[in-house]
Amino acid sequence: MKLLYIPFDHLHRNYGVLKNADPASDQIVFVQSERMCDPSKWNPIRLYFLISSARHFARQLEAEGFTVHFMIAPTTRDGLESARKKTGIQEIFSAQPSSFRSEAMLADAEVEFVENDFFLTPRALFHSWADGQKSYLMENFYRKQRVRLNVLMDGKEPIGGQWNFDKENRLPPPKGYQWPGYFRHTPDELDLQVAKELGIEAPLDWATTREGSLKQMSYFFHTHFAEFGPYEDAMTTENWALHHSLLSPYINNGLLHPSEVIEAAKNRFQSGDIPIESCEAFVRQIIGWREYINGMYWYLGADYRNRNQLKAERKLLPLFDHPEKTSMNCVRVSVEDTKSRGWVHHIPRLMVLSNLALLTGTNPQEFLDWMRREFIDASEWVMVPNVIGMGVHADGGQMMTKPYAAGGAYISRMSNYCKPCAYDPKLRTGDKACPFTTLYWDFLDRNRDAFAKNHRMVQQFGGLDRLSDREAVKERARQVLIGLENGTI
Ligand SMILES: Cc1cc2nc3c(=O)[nH]c(=O)nc-3n(C[C@H](O)[C@H](O)[C@H](O)COP(=O)(O)OP(=O)(O)OC[C@H]3O[C@@H](n4cnc5c(N)ncnc54)[C@H](O)[C@@H]3O)c2cc1C
Ligand code: SF4
Repeated sequence: MKLLYIPFDHLHRNYGVLKNADPASDQIVFVQSERMCDPSKWNPIRLYFLISSARHFARQLEAEGFTVHFMIAPTTRDGLESARKKTGIQEIFSAQPSSFRSEAMLADAEVEFVENDFFLTPRALFHSWADGQKSYLMENFYRKQRVRLNVLMDGKEPIGGQWNFDKENRLPPPKGYQWPGYFRHTPDELDLQVAKELGIEAPLDWATTREGSLKQMSYFFHTHFAEFGPYEDAMTTENWALHHSLLSPYINNGLLHPSEVIEAAKNRFQSGDIPIESCEAFVRQIIGWREYINGMYWYLGADYRNRNQLKAERKLLPLFDHPEKTSMNCVRVSVEDTKSRGWVHHIPRLMVLSNLALLTGTNPQEFLDWMRREFIDASEWVMVPNVIGMGVHADGGQMMTKPYAAGGAYISRMSNYCKPCAYDPKLRTGDKACPFTTLYWDFLDRNRDAFAKNHRMVQQFGGLDRLSDREAVKERARQVLIGLENGTI
């Protein structure tokens, strides 16, 4: 007999350590670590999803005939030791975990690893790609993936004659548009039990079973897929999910494997009524961005998490825990949505939340920890490169050649947030000035030396040099930063 340890993000019967598992020779261990499941430290919606999914999956394995030990312990390590004591079985196997920290902890606990096949790209393959690159452009990696995995290919050529259709996408939210409704999931008695333990109402937005995640996937492909591309970057208070798939939680915790999502996308595309710009944009997220981010996490190493190239030392702003403390409409809505559902799509994550952290010089690790605590799909491997590399440019440009810094004009163009806001995205000075607009110029001014050799920033610095009111902008930025710290902006 041996023990198979199933982390909460390996919940698939056909992958990882369960691939060849047999109730006659294997017993199963789950550990609900109190450290990782404390609702006073983590968004309860996230915990609900992770814990209830794991308990449902444990039940499924029991129904198949496995003996399952669902340990509740102060730490994962403690839970594994208790399982060893309880069963008298010393040998524990697991698929390679998804973070450096878990890997070190499990190795220390003498857990033996089998390959982690929850991704489409083996770590060694990504390493050899990255080793051959001057700069790690996602687009180059993505094209290789299209060919290697034979997705949207017509022989050696990309279907539709182009690799990327983003020029057709990136539209602002259309006026008077009828957004389709959301798929609602019905909590069962186990969900209700977990929600009660966490002191919340069971949310209807998220499934906690394989069946539920398959329904979510099917709903996306039939109701949203066709319009996914054009409005991918739009933000609106009229609809919180727009045409996004809401699949990241399930792909990240294992309920869906990325190959299943890609197969479903290919099949749906073959029906002929899905525009190539939507299909290609979606496929790029799954075989491109997702795989690239995981590859970069392992490639860049355990210390990448601690990078702070711009020496940003501001403490996390109070509005991140108390969104009512800001009058910035875009920020308030994004933080409130994150807290109530554990999710906002990639543009509020990047251009509102991370942009604010970047422009205010918030300490990258404080902001990263907040993102990890709040998002339903936040695993270490995915949050670290997305925040440190993409969101707040704390890695000196190792991943992205220039920072995603923007003033209010971008948010104004891509959303309906600005009209009811207390601030004006066009103004950079005065009491009504949009804090993003003011801070954008101030950020460039403060960090000029750090970007002196960056040719892609020449245009931005040209704009800064043409400002006739730089001193007034500086003074307003000083007031904005004090106001944000005091919760009065
Ligand atoms: C600052 C920042 C932080 C992020 N943090 C996370 C995170 O903690 N967990 C997470 O899964 N995604 C993260 N993302 C990526 C992206 O925002 C989410 O994957 C997406 O919003 C999830 O919603 P969806 O499933 O509806 O995605 P869709 O828009 O429908 O996209 C489809 C899928 O593509 C994948 N994907 C797309 N972009 C990325 C990316 N940059 N990294 C990894 N996968 C990607 C996801 O699996 C997603 O489900 C982050 C992006 C940014 C800019
Ligand atoms: S005006 Fe500025 S702060 Fe207000 S919603 Fe627009 S971008 Fe956000």
